[in-house]
Amino acid sequence: MVSAGRFASDEPALFQSTVDFVQLFCDVPDPVLAVTSKIESLDARIAWTLLGTDLFQDRSYGEIGRLLSALYERFPGDKLWALPVPTGPEIEAVVESTFGSRNWSLFKNVAGIFWSVGLFVRRHPDLESWVRERTANGMWRDLGEIYFMGKNGPRVKACAAIYRLIAPRPLGLGLEFNNDRRLPPLPLTMGSRRFIAMLGPAREGGFAEMEPAQKQALANDFFVQLVPGNPYAAAHALQFYLEEGCEDFICRERTEECALCPLKDFCDYAVHHD
Ligand code: SF4
Repeated sequence: MVSAGRFASDEPALFQSTVDFVQLFCDVPDPVLAVTSKIESLDARIAWTLLGTDLFQDRSYGEIGRLLSALYERFPGDKLWALPVPTGPEIEAVVESTFGSRNWSLFKNVAGIFWSVGLFVRRHPDLESWVRERTANGMWRDLGEIYFMGKNGPRVKACAAIYRLIAPRPLGLGLEFNNDRRLPPLPLTMGSRRFIAMLGPAREGGFAEMEPAQKQALANDFFVQLVPGNPYAAAHALQFYLEEGCEDFICRERTEECALCPLKDFCDYAVHHD
């Protein structure tokens, strides 16, 4: 494993191809915001973004998008937080009909997550002001009130939620917040982990053995190297690397099966067309 800076100088062609990959994928819609950005009320948009981020686990991007749409269709308007809240069986029925089974690691917790986001909204009824008045650190602290948003450790979901709220459109909702320039770690998705371990600075090995905080620090440095002015764009784009899509990896689906991918000369999963 090498530092992000060393990787950039030792592997200039691969590094440049990664920059090009980021440029190609940084406009791919975020799977949660693709659903929530269509919601008219800003407070509901924020609330459903928090819910979608909390539910984003152990299912493909397409499945999470479909689940979020189905939940919103079944419980529109203020039904996420207004009392009386939907019952557990009502919420679980939407999951079961969307996925065609109850086989999901979060299935037993999904109603609790739904209710917990609802309770969060009742505690912070003006969510736009809640974001505007908080520093990222304040949001980080408050998000610990939500079931499954994490209390200790890297708190990946809390990071993802904050960036979905504050990142400029179209990558985030572009909300104003109390910016004291202390931002949380950039979201370290499975796609970024795969990229760093398979093609990036840890391609020679060692990533799996690193402590979570070391992984996060390496990823942050790498994202900054790739797009110094907007490292969130790199974090966003690399989530699609070898990530399961509808029929194939999302990256393949968007590059005519690798033909248009800047990484095709480096990636072991490239489909060759000759
Ligand atoms: S699988 Fe294909 S599209 Fe995906 S990164 Fe590799 S070369 Fe690019």
